[in-house]
Amino acid sequence: MLIADDLLLDYKRCQRRAFLNLYGDRTERDPERDFVSKLRSQGSQHIAAILADYDCHRPQFAWRDWDAGAIATAHLMAQGVDCIHQGVLQVNRSDPFPAHLWPSAIANAPPNPQVLAVEAQLRLQALELMGKPTLLVKQPGKSRWGDWQYIPINVKLGKRPKPEYKLVSALHTYLLAVMQEALPTEAHLILRDRDVHSVQLHIWLPRLWEVLAECSEVLLLSREPEVFISRQRCSLCQWYSHCNAIAQAQNHLSLVPGVTPNRYEQLQTLGIQTLETLASTPPQELNSTLGHDLALNLQQQAWSILSNQALKKQTKRALPPLPSQEVEFYFDIEAEPDRNLDYLLGVVQIDYRGAPLRGSLRDREQFIPLVAENPAAEADIWQQFLTLMESEPNAPIFHFSEYEVETIQRLGRLYKTPLHRVQALVSRCVDLHHYVTATTLLPVQSYSLKAIAQWLGFQWRDAEASGDQTVCWYDRWLKTGDRDCLDAIIRYNEDDCRATYRLKVWLADFLETPIAAVKE
Ligand code: SF4
Repeated sequence: MLIADDLLLDYKRCQRRAFLNLYGDRTERDPERDFVSKLRSQGSQHIAAILADYDCHRPQFAWRDWDAGAIATAHLMAQGVDCIHQGVLQVNRSDPFPAHLWPSAIANAPPNPQVLAVEAQLRLQALELMGKPTLLVKQPGKSRWGDWQYIPINVKLGKRPKPEYKLVSALHTYLLAVMQEALPTEAHLILRDRDVHSVQLHIWLPRLWEVLAECSEVLLLSREPEVFISRQRCSLCQWYSHCNAIAQAQNHLSLVPGVTPNRYEQLQTLGIQTLETLASTPPQELNSTLGHDLALNLQQQAWSILSNQALKKQTKRALPPLPSQEVEFYFDIEAEPDRNLDYLLGVVQIDYRGAPLRGSLRDREQFIPLVAENPAAEADIWQQFLTLMESEPNAPIFHFSEYEVETIQRLGRLYKTPLHRVQALVSRCVDLHHYVTATTLLPVQSYSLKAIAQWLGFQWRDAEASGDQTVCWYDRWLKTGDRDCLDAIIRYNEDDCRATYRLKVWLADFLETPIAAVKE
C-alpha cells in the first residue's frame, strides 16, 4: 500500500475522508466548491511568490511517474544543487535501508508497538511511503553524497502551523533521511504571513509512527471509519452529501449540536449510541461524566430533534425581552477577508408605522444594499450606512453573529468616525444568534442562520449561495466586471437580512408563549 503525503494529510483531518478517497465511489462526490478552487489557486500563487526567493531546480519526469520522479530528485541531490522544487521522495524498495534508518533506530526511546508495526510493514514491503515537499534546500552536513544534505520546507496558505502540516513535514524528513542516508536536523513551514516555523522533529517523528501505524491498519484492512459530521471539518469536503445522508439515516449523534468528537467518545463509553438513548437516559447517569448543565443541554437538544419541537432553555440569567419599535433594521454584511474589506452593508428596513398588522405588510419592508463596487468605495458605503442608521435613531439594529458589531467598530476606527457615533450604533445592535442560543433549543443540525431559518420555512432564492461562495463571486466581479456575480451577492445578502427578520418575528412570539411551542 502506498501512503502518500496528501493521503496522510487527509487522514489526519478525517480518517473517513482518507478511506473514501482510496475506496469510495468517486461518482458520489460533490462537485468541488468554487471556494476550494479559489484556495488552491491562492496557494499556487503563494508558492510562486516564495519561490522567487530561491534558485530552484525541478526534476524532470513523466506526469505521476513517481518512481522516475524520485530517481530524478535523487540525481539533483547527488549533484548538490541548492534548491529543488517539486521533488519526489519515496522509499526505494529495491534499495535496502541502512540499519540506522529503520524507524526503531531513529526512535530515541525503546521502540513502541506503533514504531515496530510500521517497521514490520516497511520490511515486508507492505507499506510504501511517498512525499512531495514544496522545497528541498541544501544545508551543510553529511549525506551519502558528501558534505551536504537537504531539509524539507513546505509552503502553506494557512495562518497557523497546523498539526497536519507538521505531520507531513515529519514524513518528508523521514523519506529524506532514507534517500540521503542522514536524518535532516530541521524541517520548516512557510505560512501565509511568510514567517518560517520550525517543526519540532523530536515531537513529530514519534507522532508520525503512531499515525502511520493507525492509518495503514485502517486502510490496509479496508476498515470504513464511522461517519462523524463536524460542521467545521466537513463543510468543504467533497464527501459531505454522501456522509450527511448516512448520518441522517442513522440519526447519528454527531448531528446533535454540542456533540464534539470528545463528547461523542464519552457518550459511547456510557453506552449511548443513538439520539433516542441520549434523550431517554436518566440524567444522573450522564451527570458524572458530562456535568449537569452539559448533560441537560445535550439531552434536551436530542429531544428537540427527535420531536421536531423548539424548546425554551432553562437559563439562569434571563435576557431582556427583544426590543420592538415602529422602525427596525435587519443588518447583514458581505466581506472579503483576504482584502480585509466589508464590501456590502445590507439592510432590510421594516416600517410598521400605519401598518394594521405587524410583520404582514411586504410593502413596508425595504431592502437597502450599500455596495462597494470597488474596494476604495468601502469608505463611501460606511458613510451611507451611518446616515441611514442615524435617520432612525430609535430603531434597533438586528443582526446574526458578533461580526456586525465588530465591523461597525472596525469601520469606525478605520474612517475616524467620532466614538460617540459608533457607540450609539453599537448600543442599538441586537445579536439574534446570542438570543436564540441563550434561550432556545431547536431541532437543527447547527445554529447557523441558514439552518435555523430553513427550519422556520424560509428559503434562499439561490440554493447554492453561501458566505464562501460570495467571496468567490466578489473576486470574479473585481477581475471580470461580471455584473451577474454582484447581483447574486446582493440577492444572497437580501435573503440573509430577510431570514434575520423572519427569525426575530418567530423568536419574539416564541419567547412570549408560556410553554414550549411546536412548529406547525
Ligand atoms: S464529510 Fe466529514 S466525515 Fe465525511 S469524509 Fe468528509 S470530513 Fe470526513
